Amino acid sequence: MILHADADAFFASVEQRDDPRLRGRPMVVAHEVVACPSYEARALGIHAGMPLRQVQRRWPDVLVTGYRSEAYEEASTLLFDLFRRFTPLVEPGSMEEAFLDVTGRDRGDLTGMAYALRAAARSEVGLPVSVGAGSTKLIAKLASRRAKPDGVVVVDAELEGRLRPRLRLDELWGVGPTTYEKLHAAGLFVVSDLHGLTEDDLKRVVTTAMARRLLSIAHGTDDATIRLPGPRRSVSASRSLPSTRTRSKVVAVLEECVSRAITRVSGLDAPPRLPTRLEVFVRYDDGTQVLERGPLGDPSLDSEVIGAAAAALLDRTGYEWDGRGVTMVGLTLPLPMPGVNPPDTTT
Ligand SMILES: [Mg+2]
Repeated sequence: MILHADADAFFASVEQRDDPRLRGRPMVVAHEVVACPSYEARALGIHAGMPLRQVQRRWPDVLVTGYRSEAYEEASTLLFDLFRRFTPLVEPGSMEEAFLDVTGRDRGDLTGMAYALRAAARSEVGLPVSVGAGSTKLIAKLASRRAKPDGVVVVDAELEGRLRPRLRLDELWGVGPTTYEKLHAAGLFVVSDLHGLTEDDLKRVVTTAMARRLLSIAHGTDDATIRLPGPRRSVSASRSLPSTRTRSKVVAVLEECVSRAITRVSGLDAPPRLPTRLEVFVRYDDGTQVLERGPLGDPSLDSEVIGAAAAALLDRTGYEWDGRGVTMVGLTLPLPMPGVNPPDTTT
């Protein structure tokens, strides 16, 4: 059986967890556009992607916070550590959602396990996480969507038998508006409309891949395989700061990012993979971003070596003479993949 665990309003929930003044209030995490509204803000009609100015004009009482990527990454790490305590078979969907294969691990009480996962996320990470359970990834994900916010929905075999034929085709992920229009035009609206159709029949309406996927959903043989992520390809650290052109302030933030990134790389593998190149970026107060990348000389995880290379790349962005204020600084350490030669970094 598969669980789908998905943090609710992730960025906003992290902010509300860390600042009691934000709790229970409509608030948004935003940088010019809304990245994540709290559930209280969603109730007003605010959604991700809205321009911040529009939100502030219409709802002047809505609280606004900036984006704290390090806090979200830390919360993500804690969530995934928690998921892996329930099963080693964890497939990340994003930084705050995952599929867990708990077959044979739930002691016959799938519902109890789903509630235990949600309770542990609340008590140990301090975040609301909705959990859906079902026989396949699709069913588990639809279940977690129904469970939101902060709930649990378990679809057992009996419920699935009633639910599956009635699933709307536009609810299935991967079925975009264009595909749905074609299905709609062919008189196909729900999964039971697919019963009795062959792959050849469906191939006249949609692509071969989509025809196979739809039929597997109709037959209940859709994907229940957990794909474990490969080793991480890179580690990044960044921090926003009040708009500034002062060298000491920008350099201080970059130095902090360097040490955070090094700590994170050291924690990934033993012995750690040593980066051979790095990237430094600067974001300006008009939202544009400038990126400089370069080689590290010898592979190294030494803070002085990486710090010096990062400082040189920061200078190369020319932020001191740009005229715009710097609002975020960060760096990325691409990591060599096991068994793969490091790419040519001479450019
Ligand atoms: Mg989520």
